[in-house]
Amino acid sequence: MTEAVEPSYELFIGGASIPSSSGERQTLIDPANNRPLAAVARGHADDARHAMEVAQAAFEASWWASDDGARRGKTLFRLAQKLEERLEEFARLETLNMGKTLRESRGDVGFVVRTLEYAAGLADKIQGETIPVPGARLDLTLREPLGVTVHIAPWNYPLLLAMRSVAPALAAGNAVVLKPASLTPLTALALGRMSKEALVPDGIFNVVPGPGKDVGETLVADARCRSVSFTGGGTAGRRIAEVAAQHVVPATLELGGKGPVVVLPDADLDRAARGVAFGIFGNAGQMCWAGSRLLAHESVAETLLSKIARIAEKYALGPGVAEGVEMGPLVSREHLESVLQFITEAEASGAKVVAGGRRATDAPLQEGNFLRPTVLSQLPAPARVLKEEVFGPVLSAATFTDTDDAVRQANDTRYGLFASVWTKELAHAIPLARRLESGMVSINEAPSTFPQTPFAGFKESGLGFEQGIDSVRSYTRRKNVLINYSLPKPKN
Ligand code: NDP
Repeated sequence: MTEAVEPSYELFIGGASIPSSSGERQTLIDPANNRPLAAVARGHADDARHAMEVAQAAFEASWWASDDGARRGKTLFRLAQKLEERLEEFARLETLNMGKTLRESRGDVGFVVRTLEYAAGLADKIQGETIPVPGARLDLTLREPLGVTVHIAPWNYPLLLAMRSVAPALAAGNAVVLKPASLTPLTALALGRMSKEALVPDGIFNVVPGPGKDVGETLVADARCRSVSFTGGGTAGRRIAEVAAQHVVPATLELGGKGPVVVLPDADLDRAARGVAFGIFGNAGQMCWAGSRLLAHESVAETLLSKIARIAEKYALGPGVAEGVEMGPLVSREHLESVLQFITEAEASGAKVVAGGRRATDAPLQEGNFLRPTVLSQLPAPARVLKEEVFGPVLSAATFTDTDDAVRQANDTRYGLFASVWTKELAHAIPLARRLESGMVSINEAPSTFPQTPFAGFKESGLGFEQGIDSVRSYTRRKNVLINYSLPKPKN
């Protein structure tokens, strides 16, 4: 296998790897040991404008936008195939850069392969409609690509969350400029280069790493930007929506969550415990849709909590690249500190630490950003950990008395991304699922998603959607064409 990490990465613009205009570079750090991993060109506003210019020119001049979709689809299938062939290499690169386990990275890259295939399959199925109108007229709608679309991705699923919007935008015939998170740009840059091998025309897929405030805002503010798709925190999301609004450009926002996990008294508690653990300790809890608030019926709470604590204590922590590891490090030292702060505050307010609550200090792990899977209970209602997104492996447990109480507590959050319900009785689960204010609800299942299922949040969790059958269409615009086919009246 090729060694995944090269010492140095450039921007990918116009089908070529190029240095940033300033020549500046940023050192990326391996979160498993806090040692330098690679250097990457740091883009700035000038690079962002250059990428937009190149993308606009490619959109206007290449065959990509004017194709009927068949050739675009074939090209994206080719890209999917190439990525699948090098899945292991990409997974390793993702793991070294971001920290997650190889098993998780393999899952992520596999998801990207499926997303590309799914979008490729839709590329030649973009159709308009004919609409009955009075008289000798024919009315029809055309579905056209938007132009240049901007995509801003976070660090928690670096390639997956970038490509779930990039793939449909490409399938729809747009030219794309992607800004990956500054902490984790490597797989996006590697995929940019691979797109050239797959014969995506130069300038149709561009990747510009660099600071969000500088590169991200310049991309969104650029007059050539026709839509923006953002995944990340609420503060940046609101700012992007503001900037996009200045030139009336649509913004899809996928923001945070504070997902409730409701366990009813008749649930299979072993299965629920495994599902709860997976939903908060997976990806070291760095998931917008983590099930971070456990709401267990008071009759089963104690038993369930001890089962979850036993699972938490057995988690094998270690560098993501080591086989058998179940949880990697958090993405950065700063992020680890921010998660620890939530735990310290919770303890100070009287919460009980049922499991974890501290860094892993065994010799090989102390250099990295490792945190033991943590379970907190007996939290006072105003505790910050119950309200804000922690973005780490920290479960907050509470109890409920009856269904109304469960619904009230579950919905008592400004977020509404994901919720799950655990019960053996669908007659209980379905009415409860209907009452939960969440864009996604799972019954007897930890957070799971597929390229064909929509991903969307209610309330402050977001605006718009990603994935699903309408994903490609959402990167098109509808033009109405009215034809008058009446014959000219004969002159007397
Ligand atoms: P951010 O929202 O700050 O970053 C996400 C992406 O947006 C990055 O590419 C970032 O660039 C970019 N960005 C940041 N500010 C701007 C801006 N003003 N204009 C344009 N682009 C911008 O997330 P963080 O990584 O800083 O994490 C903050 C919090 O967000 C986390 O603690 C977590 O709660 C939440 N989060 C949610 C995610 C989700 O999937 N829903 C994913 C990641 C974080 P850069 O990397 O250069 O800052």
